[in-house]
Order: sequence, then structure tokens, then C-alpha cells
Amino acid sequence: MALDSETLAQLIGTMQRFVEERLIPAEPRVEAENAIPPEIVEEMRHLGLFGMSIPQEHGGLGLTMTEEVEIAFVLGRAAPAFRSLIGTNNGIGSQGIVIDGTPEQKAHWLPRLASGEMISSFALTEPDAGSDAASISLSARRDGDDYVLNGTKRFITNAPVASLFTVMARTEPDVKGAKGISAFLVEADTPGLTVGKPDRKMGQRGALTADVFFEDCRVPASAIIGGVPGRGFATAMKVLDRGRLHISAICAGAATRLLDDALAFALERKQFDQPIAEFQLIQAMLADSRTELYAGQSMVRDAARRRDGGESVSLEASCCKLFCSEMVGRVADRAVQIHGGAGYMADYAVERFYRDVRLFRIYEGTSQIQQLVIARNMIAGA
Ligand SMILES: Cc1cc2nc3c(=O)[nH]c(=O)nc-3n(C[C@H](O)[C@H](O)[C@H](O)COP(=O)(O)OP(=O)(O)OC[C@H]3O[C@@H](n4cnc5c(N)ncnc54)[C@H](O)[C@@H]3O)c2cc1C
Repeated sequence: MALDSETLAQLIGTMQRFVEERLIPAEPRVEAENAIPPEIVEEMRHLGLFGMSIPQEHGGLGLTMTEEVEIAFVLGRAAPAFRSLIGTNNGIGSQGIVIDGTPEQKAHWLPRLASGEMISSFALTEPDAGSDAASISLSARRDGDDYVLNGTKRFITNAPVASLFTVMARTEPDVKGAKGISAFLVEADTPGLTVGKPDRKMGQRGALTADVFFEDCRVPASAIIGGVPGRGFATAMKVLDRGRLHISAICAGAATRLLDDALAFALERKQFDQPIAEFQLIQAMLADSRTELYAGQSMVRDAARRRDGGESVSLEASCCKLFCSEMVGRVADRAVQIHGGAGYMADYAVERFYRDVRLFRIYEGTSQIQQLVIARNMIAGA
């Protein structure tokens, strides 16, 4: 249900204050400690950020896509690690259950995910299955009323802190591709599930990823989302557009932050007896960035509005993900350039953001995979 405009404006205002007064000042600590401070996690819970996309009847805020992207524009201004912690609860972790879950699964899991009592992880990628996600091999063998999971998942965000995993596993070993895959809801303390050491990454410190190992991990058949095997991939596909639009809005949010920092620096820093913002070559970088940012914001708002209107936005969501993730990379690069040598120093946020935003072109479908989705949609519609 859409919020009235006054309530939405209040929510955006609250988020702006939270981001500027709490999240941005905490960024150096997150970078130094590689963790989000517990008091900030608690405040995120209190604000309802874990349940933005979860229907109100299940304890969430029940935001429409249009509303969610406005919040993500604001949240994206802070280090991406904060967003990462709530990403799966708002994405596949809850939406798979919202769309295809049984009434029991909805009643049991959604309020816990919405409140942030449980932090969730989505485990799809494997050592030998990345972009070709339908080729996963983690096996789920039926044994009476249970399934027994064996295999390894790789690069799983939130794995070291998650209490619930949505695990994509092959229930029908003889069925190749997407049709043999089921989505299981597995609690982190299930015997046979172990999490590896946190990965050492280029950026996004505070957002932890790790391998997840399944060794004879036994779960009841009722842990399959929707209760029917073989539909896991289809469930994940239904949630994909929402996730891609959310990430695109986060990219646009990061670009606003980078650009604000770059403009402030350009006005302050003097060379040749004048602020560097007076130089037309610096102005070109600012103007190109502002133009691309505006394009990205406009695309995301348009696609979100269409999705809320019931249109299929598979092509548009991929256009947004492709453009916005590449756009924020260019904006980050220019922001570092405008900062000169200071932009290469860890004391400035642009140095950190430059590393952090690189990931957006890789996960939730690489840029090349977005190009394939766009072109395939074009060909299919010709
Ligand atoms: C920090 C981080 C967090 C992540 N979090 C999660 C998570 O929470 N859950 C999860 O399941 N996964 C997660 N991933 C995994 C991520 O989704 C994959 O890394 C991504 O999908 C790419 O897969 P890959 O790394 O195996 O690369 P590959 O698929 O091996 O791709 C390598 C290169 O080949 C290109 N390529 C592949 N296929 C084609 C093609 N058909 N045409 C043209 N080019 C192609 C790719 O674009 C890329 O440039 C995360 C990854 C990272 C780095």
C-alpha cells in the first residue's frame, strides 16, 4: 500500500537525518573495524529498514518500488556496507517468501525479517557457478520427510552474521538447468552448515562475505519456499527486477555523495590563485557527472513507477542496473581526479567510495549479463 505524500516526506526526512548524522560519521569506524557498530544496527532495526519492502500485515513498512527507490537514493549516500546489511532482508530473503511462500512460512519468517531480529543471506553462487547461476550443483537429496544438503556456496554476503539463509540447491539431479533447483530456508545453526572465514575484499569493509559449507545438512521438506520442489529459480527470477532497481538507486545515491564531496573540494581547493572549481576542465567533470546522475535517477524513477503500475520491467531494470553501476564508477573516478593527490589518500571518503562502488558492476548480475538480458528482451520483442 502506497504511503500518503506527507508520510513519505517524513520518512525521507528521517532517513536524511539518520544518514547525515549517524551513518556518515560512523564510516571511518566501519572501515577500521570491518563491522557495523551494534548500536547502529539497532537504530536501523528501530527505523524499520530491515522491512522496507515487507508488507505491513507482516510487520514491514510495505513500501512500493517508487517509495523504496527514494529511500535508497538517500541511503546510498552512506557507505554501501550499511545497505548491504539490510539488502537481503528486503530482497530475495523476504520477497521470495512474500511472492511464493506458504501461509505458514509467511507468518513464521516475515515478521522476524521485517524487525531485523533475523539477518538473512542469499546463497546462490558456487565456486563453479557464477553468471551461469542455473548450473549450480549444491545437492539436496530427498530422505523421507527431509532433504540432505551437500556442497559449497561462495562470496555470500552477510554469511558471518546471518541467522537465516535462502539456499538455492538442486533437488532433481537429473534435471539440468533452472528447473531442477529449489530454494530452501535454512537457519544458520542447523547442524551441517558452517561458515568460512570472512573474505578479504577490495572494498565495502563492514559488509562481510564468506563461503558457506553444507555437509549432510538435514532440513525438513517444509523448508522449501512454497513447499513445492523445482521452483526455486523461478522464485528468484520474480524478485530480480526489484533487486536490480534497488541497487540502481543505491548507485545513484552513492553518486550524489561523491559529487557533493567533489564540488565542496573544488570550491575550497585553490591553485593558480583561484578555486579549482573555476577551471573549465574541472567544471566539465562536475557537469558530466551531474548529467549522468540525473539520467540515472530519472531512469530508476521511471522503471519503478512502471513496475508499481504492473508492467513487466525486466528490460528496464537491467538498463538501470547497467547504466547506474557503470555511471557511479565514472563519477567516482572523476571525484578522485578532482581531489588530486588527496583523492588517493584514505582520509578522504572518495578514496573509499572509489573502491566500494566497483562491486556494483559485478554482483546482482555483471554488466555483461545485464547487456545480455537487455538484448535478449529486444530480440524476443522484435
Ligand atoms: C562482494 C561480493 C558479494 C557477493 N554476494 C553474493 C551473495 O550474497 N549471494 C550470492 O549468491 N552471490 C554473491 N556474490 C557473487 C556474485 O553474484 C558473482 O560474483 C557474480 O554473479 C559473477 O559471478 P562470478 O564471480 O562467478 O564471475 P563469472 O560468472 O565467472 O564471470 C567472469 C567474467 O565473465 C563474464 N561473463 C560470464 N558469462 C558471460 C556471458 N555469457 N557473456 C559475456 N560475458 C560473460 C562476466 O561478466 C565477468 O566479466 C557476491 C560477489 C561479491 C564479489
